Amino acid sequence: MTKRTISLLLAVLLLGFAACGQKQSQEPAQPTESEAPAAAAPDASPEPPAATPEPEAVPSVLRTVGGYAVVPNDNDRRVTYPFMLQTENAVWYLAASDMELMGEEAFYAGLEDILQYVEADMADARQALAGRIPDEISPVEIRTDFCGKAEISQDAGAYYNGRANFIKLFHSWDMAKFSLLHEYVHYLTVHCAEKKTMHYFYIETVAEYVSKLLCENRMFRSIDLDKTEQPQLRALAAIWGDFDEVKYRNSCLSESDAYARGLYDEKPYVCVGQYNTVRRANKRLPDHLYELSYAEAVSLALYLMEKDGADKYLDNWDLVDEEQLAGLYGYTVAELLIAWAAWNARQCEALGLRAQQP
Ligand SMILES: [Zn+2]
Repeated sequence: MTKRTISLLLAVLLLGFAACGQKQSQEPAQPTESEAPAAAAPDASPEPPAATPEPEAVPSVLRTVGGYAVVPNDNDRRVTYPFMLQTENAVWYLAASDMELMGEEAFYAGLEDILQYVEADMADARQALAGRIPDEISPVEIRTDFCGKAEISQDAGAYYNGRANFIKLFHSWDMAKFSLLHEYVHYLTVHCAEKKTMHYFYIETVAEYVSKLLCENRMFRSIDLDKTEQPQLRALAAIWGDFDEVKYRNSCLSESDAYARGLYDEKPYVCVGQYNTVRRANKRLPDHLYELSYAEAVSLALYLMEKDGADKYLDNWDLVDEEQLAGLYGYTVAELLIAWAAWNARQCEALGLRAQQP
């Protein structure tokens, strides 16, 4: 597989992490699914009391999955999501159409599979961000949409809706295992943190850094990349084999080098600012940090961390002004991008990561 193919693939995949933060919902209006927060109290226990004198007040347990109760959803989105399941860290809303699409047993088998890993992964993410997010974090709302009813699912693997505060999972359980921890970090830093990530450079790079470089990410690692039916993920097997942090870091450096040397000139890519753009031969470095590809933005974050430490990078994640951010490191934005590109080239040289001309 050529480096260009790899890059295009990563761009497609990374779009799946996107659509976060301040981005407005792109979902088509659904009469059964308001964007308002769920009416159900997120802390309501799904466990029926052992011996209640008023059984009619207790939600009936339809089945247990991974040790958790599936109960009827009684909020105003119950037509779309007739069932829900609550864990320590999440309230899952399960779409009837997804069960119809996959078959009920296959749907629940996939849910049971991801439930083996997700709670520990979410705990890892909170631990990685300890001191930067509150000690007590409410369960996050997760909705399934494997039928792709939301318009954004055409491009994304999952997304966090920062305005209405929920994560939506698209395509398949494997794609959910690939995307969910990144989206959960958005929930933590965009919604839960008192000092929130604001700029897309920070929103996306913190999510990538935490989910792929600080956390074990059991969900991602549990995907059999050779056998998954998700073609984008199957292609990853050719690049990374099994996922690991070093391969991921190197792929970000290598892809950044390929942009710098013009291998992607005129090739559309999704930038961390959440839109499609292209790199021009006469302008290989963009004007703004939000125009960087995901790989480049992660590489830039790694550069900032190598230069002055991870704490300084994370401590300033609420900055909205790019010049102010660059100024913290003694640069203008233009100077910062030049210094980073030179650093990235040196890293690739030292590691033998030179991307080939497609
Ligand atoms: Zn994202």
